[in-house]
Amino acid sequence: MNITKIDKWPIENTGRPLLVAGPCSAESEEQLLEIAKGLKEIGVEIFRAGVWKPRTRPNSFEGMGEKALVWLQKVKEQFGMKLAVEVANAKHVEMALNAGVDMLWIGARTTVNPFAVQEISDALESRDIPVFVKNPINPDLELWIGAIERLQKAGITKIAAIHRGFSSYRKIRYRNEPQWQIPIELKRRIPDLPLIVDPSHISGDVAFIQEIIQKAMDLNYDGMIVESHNNPAVALSDAKQQVTPDALGTIMSELILRSREHNSENLNDNLSELRDMIDDFDEQLLDLLENRMQIAKTIGQYKKENNITVLQNKRWDQILQKNINRGKTKGLSEHFISTVFKAIHQESINNQENIMND
Ligand code: PEP
Ligand code: MN
Repeated sequence: MNITKIDKWPIENTGRPLLVAGPCSAESEEQLLEIAKGLKEIGVEIFRAGVWKPRTRPNSFEGMGEKALVWLQKVKEQFGMKLAVEVANAKHVEMALNAGVDMLWIGARTTVNPFAVQEISDALESRDIPVFVKNPINPDLELWIGAIERLQKAGITKIAAIHRGFSSYRKIRYRNEPQWQIPIELKRRIPDLPLIVDPSHISGDVAFIQEIIQKAMDLNYDGMIVESHNNPAVALSDAKQQVTPDALGTIMSELILRSREHNSENLNDNLSELRDMIDDFDEQLLDLLENRMQIAKTIGQYKKENNITVLQNKRWDQILQKNINRGKTKGLSEHFISTVFKAIHQESINNQENIMND
């Protein structure tokens, strides 16, 4: 992967996770100043606010537009906070930069669109402003990386990724499906890229903000961007997911920040012993999968010779049910077992189809 090292900005050796907070949308000057005052008191240094809002349906509140930038300047003057605003096109970039906005973020509905990301990147050409890139609404890691690469090619070096979850048609506990494995894979692919969690858009509900932030911290995320409103009940957008500055203060004070390194010798020894065991089991799992796949291929050959279809629905349904039930007795969740077995089954089918069409 052709990616150059990304500056460690904005975390730079503080040891503390980055905290960005502010309302979903800038609604009025009074609202912004009131929220900023509360957030300043709990130590927030970067103030977020949506000025142009990408909304699912027309006739929803679409943001206050350019005049909100003037209100935001007052936040900066009065509280000395840095400002972060969402941009979706070149015009937004120009207006935000002219208004002295310090950082930009690209929203989930924009990251999906390479034309839009390219337009923003071109508008930013060699302006070294920090840019946060939200994950696209669809679970497509390459698209997320592609947006980051477009910014890098335009000479932007201060880039961070924001994990805000992925749209789902299934009914789930949260507003958006976190799919933690995707940002984890992003971090594996680009280790120097700071990763920030957006618990507000993942959860869609204040009740889950704390658990999501804690989980992200346990996964070594570098910071968080949280929606906060002085009076969430009357917020013009995303009312259910905005916490008050006070509530955010409580969440932050209860956050458990665990050490990323383990320094005690003893702990190291115990951990490495356990990790050796995990490595052993992984090897065994691979051997088992290899053997299972060999059998599946032999069955594929048999099906071909006897001219029967690859998929035998009844048999597959039995396998899945049997293993889900067995899994339960072993404390393995239905979701986990069904994900694993569906992946194994899909791979068997692919192999058998190759044999059929050989
Ligand atoms: C937002 O941060 O207010 C926003 C619109 O988020 P997203 O792009 O994640 O939906
Ligand atoms: Mn929002």
